[in-house]
Amino acid sequence: VEVHAHGVTLLGSASQESAARLDGESRLDLRYLDLRAESKVLIFEVGTTLLQAMREFLLRQEYIELHTPKITAGGSESGAAVFEVAYFDKKACLVQSPQFYMQLAMVAGFDRVFEVGPVFRAEPASTNRHAAEFTCIDVECSWIESCSELMDLEEALVRHALAVVRDRHGAEIRRQCGVDVEVPERAIPRIAFRDVRSLVPSASDSASRMSHGAEEAICAFARERFGHSFVFVTDYPAADRPFYTMRDQENTSRSFDLMWRGIEVTSGCQREHRVESLRRQVAELGLVSDTLSLYLDKHYLEMFRHGCPPHGGFGIGLERFLMAMLGQPSIRETSFVFRGPGRFVP
Ligand code: ATP
Repeated sequence: VEVHAHGVTLLGSASQESAARLDGESRLDLRYLDLRAESKVLIFEVGTTLLQAMREFLLRQEYIELHTPKITAGGSESGAAVFEVAYFDKKACLVQSPQFYMQLAMVAGFDRVFEVGPVFRAEPASTNRHAAEFTCIDVECSWIESCSELMDLEEALVRHALAVVRDRHGAEIRRQCGVDVEVPERAIPRIAFRDVRSLVPSASDSASRMSHGAEEAICAFARERFGHSFVFVTDYPAADRPFYTMRDQENTSRSFDLMWRGIEVTSGCQREHRVESLRRQVAELGLVSDTLSLYLDKHYLEMFRHGCPPHGGFGIGLERFLMAMLGQPSIRETSFVFRGPGRFVP
């Protein structure tokens, strides 16, 4: 191509600093330069397509999209650490999940809702998978009988969204990121937590919570045994899950996580909707008589006194999902502007 210029107009000046010289923290400091690379722009184009496809899928099934408050009086209902903020003359905190409001919608009779929004976790640990602020796709529905319906729903949602991403960006993702977009065509294997120990001895390094090493081991097992890079781990010990999780027998909860390429990308569960069972589970966990329990009693437990259908849901961490899909080494790459311990600029 030959260009014949008739003139040059300077619209603005630019320093000669090059994105190629940036590394580690300076890449995050000068994120606007870092993001000038074609491969970085692609991550956010893919994120846009992914969310659009998920939204399309849910809207087709008559889900209602909500925008719930991000400031709340309630503390941490799930055990995750919260950021406190001044709220006029009171103390409030940033929500670490919209789940309470999703459940409020179930009590109100909305039946099927979702939200795509920011959540905040004051987690001091610095890993390649944790951010202090990230985007969560939360889905909640009523009239379920068990977690398997939630996993069926999530599986169909993920299959649809990944197929759309593959069709639109597959070739470019291969070229820029060196990975294929995997669409789970066959059913995703489901492994109960109690069986993890015998099936994957290297994953049983803890009696309850799965460590990251364990998540990687279970994914390696699923790939080898089922030729699948996705795997659901289900029925976690009740002690490992938040109080609102429905329990099956004494020590098992109706819960699941979806792992993909060694990374936990989703958590979900059937929620306990019977107020007496909820009260018992709250008391068992010792969540009584502090400010949290005041909130719990007055605003959470009270809600269920008015009747609520059986329900449940799940949350997909958008940046983590993109990280797994695009084979990125860190959530810092898939967060537009990363937030973590010690990092709240730019
Ligand atoms: P983890 O055990 O990895 O810390 P979690 O069990 O606390 O995660 P949930 O509270 O169940 O995660 O959140 C639902 C989903 O949100 C997770 O499956 C994950 O995709 C995402 N997620 C959770 N915490 C973070 C975080 N700090 N940064 C980015 N994404 C997160």
